[in-house]
Amino acid sequence: TELSTMILDRIRDVPDYPKPGVLFKDITPLLADPVTMAAVVDELAGLHEVDKIVGIEARGFILAAPVAYRAAAGFVPVRKKGKLPAATLAESYDLEYGSATIEVHSDAFDPGDRVLIVDDVLATGGTAQAAVELVGRAGGTVVGIAVLMELAFLKGRERLNGVQVHSLVIV
Ligand code: 5GP
Repeated sequence: TELSTMILDRIRDVPDYPKPGVLFKDITPLLADPVTMAAVVDELAGLHEVDKIVGIEARGFILAAPVAYRAAAGFVPVRKKGKLPAATLAESYDLEYGSATIEVHSDAFDPGDRVLIVDDVLATGGTAQAAVELVGRAGGTVVGIAVLMELAFLKGRERLNGVQVHSLVIV
């Protein structure tokens, strides 16, 4: 589609970042283009009827906050361990080397809240899977996950069985 072309044209491949052998998808050219950014936000805001939009630190925040505004929904941050000030729930997941932990405030959701999780890139799916788990444990109902770009060769979608995954671009 036209939107996926606009997005693809504004995501830059950076070789060997953050380490040798990784081809990093840099979304900053897209963020800097107001026409594409507005189209992306409108698209993501129209996916589901929701009460809360969850953004995953840090690039997910940049997308999720305007989507929440556009959807007239609340914004909820999922952050790296130790960053949220009040009582939290935590979820750990494996990385290539070691593990990571993300957190959400325990009282972030009201019973019955419909939740869309937003991030920039779906890679192995570990982060998104942990976020789904976390939102569920905190009392929210995940209606979908939305990302700008899905790296299909990493098969992240397979880890997200039963959750609707919306990728504006699949590479
Ligand atoms: P996963 O847990 O799916 O392997 O990795 C996804 C998470 O790592 C997302 O939060 C995403 O922001 C980040 N990430 C992994 N690879 C890339 C990449 O190539 N570009 C960007 N922008 N983020 C990435």
